[in-house]
Amino acid sequence: MGTGAIIDGKAFAEGLRGRVAGAVAELVRDRGFKPGLAVVLVGEDPASQVYVRNKAKQTVEVGMHSVEHRLDADTSQETLLALIAELNADDAVDGILVQLPLPAQIDSQAVLDAIDPAKDVDGFHVVNAGRLATGGAALVPCTPLGCLLLLKDRLGDLSGLHAVVVGRSNIVGKPMAQLLLGANCTVTVAHSRTRDLAAVCRQADILVAAVGRPEMVRGDWIKPGATVIDVGINRVPAPDKGEGKTRLVGDVAFAEAAEVAGAITPVPGGVGPMTIAVLLRNTVEAACRRRGVPVPG
Ligand code: NDP
Repeated sequence: MGTGAIIDGKAFAEGLRGRVAGAVAELVRDRGFKPGLAVVLVGEDPASQVYVRNKAKQTVEVGMHSVEHRLDADTSQETLLALIAELNADDAVDGILVQLPLPAQIDSQAVLDAIDPAKDVDGFHVVNAGRLATGGAALVPCTPLGCLLLLKDRLGDLSGLHAVVVGRSNIVGKPMAQLLLGANCTVTVAHSRTRDLAAVCRQADILVAAVGRPEMVRGDWIKPGATVIDVGINRVPAPDKGEGKTRLVGDVAFAEAAEVAGAITPVPGGVGPMTIAVLLRNTVEAACRRRGVPVPG
């Protein structure tokens, strides 16, 4: 029998989308503009196609303008950069998102850095990463910002808590660590070279796992009462469901961890749904900042 409360990211994300829809309606009514999000997909990666479809659908659902650009898998970097330049110049576009991963012939960082930082709703541009690190007005990567919102909702003030982030990628681990530092946590960033990872994790009041290894974090790595945020999305075989069937699991062994944790995000239904909701929120923020108007609500 587990004791940890389940953090319902799906419900929180729904509430957030509702608030975004309210803000959009207010901007349309009082300011006469509708925020717009452009999503660019290169190639036919099935997972990316699902993400892009969901992003476009939810963008329209909250009342924003949605633009989709689908390019062939053999698109050159030059063609993609020309499209980015067009979107940078398009006043109806407030947010630009290039779906990753990009095909091998394209230098992803060069593309991300070509996006106008004011429209960089994924927060991957070096200017936004720098602003996040130095305490400026950054657009912040959606997944870690979603994790922070869940943590603040659950714990309130995070000051003085020891947060351990496992993973140091530019899109999750590093910005997560910066956000937690900004929220006055004492932050440890662990990675593949960390020694005695279990002992490091056991010190955490807040444990964020962003590794990409199915159920790597075990129940006995968790300090009793800790808040556990599982960012991992891993598809693993599920022979119990039938031949060739799979299921999604996180980077944390959920059942074991829920016995010890004070609260924990499930996979699916935890961090996952937050990402698009935060993307929509970032788009409203970008739209308002570009026009020098306050974000409603
Ligand atoms: P990356 O592969 O870019 O980074 C993984 C990090 O984990 C690296 O820093 C790596 O360390 C570290 N790591 C790998 N193996 C170990 C190990 N054995 N012990 C300790 N650390 C290890 O992944 P991402 O950050 O992009 O994604 C992480 C997970 O989050 C994935 O499962 C991904 O699917 C998921 N994800 C979910 C999102 C959502 O919407 N919920 C959005 C984005 C990602 P090192 O740097 O030393 O190699």
